Amino acid sequence: MQKKKIRCLIKYQSVALGVYNYKVFLPLKSGWSNNSLVTCTNCGELFVIDWENPETENLSVKQIAGSTLCPTCNVVLSMYLADYPTTIRISENQFVSFNDEVISNQDEGSEIVEFYELRPLQKGLN
Ligand SMILES: [Zn+2]
Repeated sequence: MQKKKIRCLIKYQSVALGVYNYKVFLPLKSGWSNNSLVTCTNCGELFVIDWENPETENLSVKQIAGSTLCPTCNVVLSMYLADYPTTIRISENQFVSFNDEVISNQDEGSEIVEFYELRPLQKGLN
């Protein structure tokens, strides 16, 4: 699976009781980019979906994942995907939810971060 670099705000949040300074990635939205993150709920791996890519047009996250396997834990991703940071897997049995709308969408303090890019399998390449 290819990787893609996107610009993210990085926030260190208290996400749960006793879990402080947890690193949360928030893709910056701008006129040029519309990236969102999803997470594998089995292992916590993060994936970026580029909604400006014509390949993803009109597809759901599950359709984009198709039969793709998680590169980290090898499950069929479409069955284990959740929106991030609405769902954050912080440990084996602990999931938390973070509301990114409380964070203003500004460039300040953002960094380029590399994630696996989830995109539909190319037609005819099975
Ligand atoms: Zn996984």
